[in-house]
This record gives sequence, structure tokens and C-alpha cells, in this order.
Amino acid sequence: MELKTKVQTYIINYQCDKCKQGNMVFQGKAKKGIDNKTMMFQHRCNKCSVIQDIKGKQYPQMRYEKVEIKDVDKLLDNLHSESKNLFFYSLTEDCRKSMEEE
Ligand SMILES: [Zn+2]
Repeated sequence: MELKTKVQTYIINYQCDKCKQGNMVFQGKAKKGIDNKTMMFQHRCNKCSVIQDIKGKQYPQMRYEKVEIKDVDKLLDNLHSESKNLFFYSLTEDCRKSMEEE
């Protein structure tokens, strides 16, 4: 059975520790750390070109988080009332469509 879950997508960047302006980008190279277990991933700053090994992680990273109802409420609070109405309109429109399809 297929289950569908609405998610929010986040892109996690690692800000360069040296110039604090660029982002660290994984270079496709990895090696074992000093403990001989953890992988060290080679990253390069897209601004100052500094090379840094990051323990166990690759950036940029994509993260998916489930959309909670309370987050949707929070989102709506931040919207201008006019676009809020539009949002509700498209929301009900979608609901209507999916009901018609069934
Ligand atoms: Zn940098």
C-alpha cells in the first residue's frame, strides 16, 4: 500500500569556518578518520577554496521534515491576509478536486 506524506524540504549548508561567506561543498572524496571508523568527507569552500574534512557528513544536504498542522498555521500567520485567502482558496480547490476524483 502506498502512503503519501506531505513534507517540507530543507537545504542544509555548511558555512565556511574560515571566510564565513562561502559554503562547503563535498568534493566526492572520503577517507577514514583517526578513529578508523568515522568517514571524513572532503569539502571545499565555494568562495575562498579552503579544503576541510567534515566528519561523517556531506554538504549541501537535503532534509525532509513532515509538515505538521501547527506549522501550516504558523505559515498562514505569516502570510498577508489577502494571500491567506488565496491560499485557502487553492486549498479548498485541491480538496474538492481530490474528492471528485474518488
Ligand atoms: Zn571560505
